Amino acid sequence: MNQHIHITIDGPSGAGKSTIAREVAKALGFLYVDTGALYRAAALGVLEQGVDPKNVHEVCEALSSLEVSMKLSPEGQRTLLNGRDVSGRIRTPEISTAASFIAQYACVRSFLLDVQRDIAASNSVVMDGRDIGTTVLPNAQVKLYLTASAKDRAFRRYHELRTKGESVSFDEVYREILQRDERDMNREV
Ligand code: C5P
Repeated sequence: MNQHIHITIDGPSGAGKSTIAREVAKALGFLYVDTGALYRAAALGVLEQGVDPKNVHEVCEALSSLEVSMKLSPEGQRTLLNGRDVSGRIRTPEISTAASFIAQYACVRSFLLDVQRDIAASNSVVMDGRDIGTTVLPNAQVKLYLTASAKDRAFRRYHELRTKGESVSFDEVYREILQRDERDMNREV
């Protein structure tokens, strides 16, 4: 019998999923798993091969030379691309956009499904993403959906990026959130 406890937090970008997931995981002594980082790492791998994220065939083909994994510890998650730690490199607006393009493709979603399920099979986790409660861990004991208005979410992202020293405007971030919502919420898979 599976004795692990699974808590899923789904919702759109910038709603505060990772902040809450991290706190809950810490309070319960569970692992926090950020699945968006996997999509981001795959997007980085695709871009590094010179592949256009809008070209579904090339993206699917590029996956065969990518290995995306996570190193998990109570101190936090490191995201690996072909064994290289890319945790910092994947937090850019360029990667956010590329990730949301490739996340529309069935080949990418199934490529990352096993990585996510393998972690949950051997750990109690708080896992955040878009499809965790519905597809990745449909039998999770606790499923949450967290959202906020697009303006509030853009505001959070804007502050996050400015704090990191990125010179973005609020309008840019807001536009990017709206475009990402459109793709993330209207894809077939
Ligand atoms: O959550 P984060 O902004 O890091 O996710 C980056 C992109 O990865 C999202 O815009 C979404 O397209 C995709 N994603 C997904 N399913 C998940 C997590 C992220 O499609 N479980």
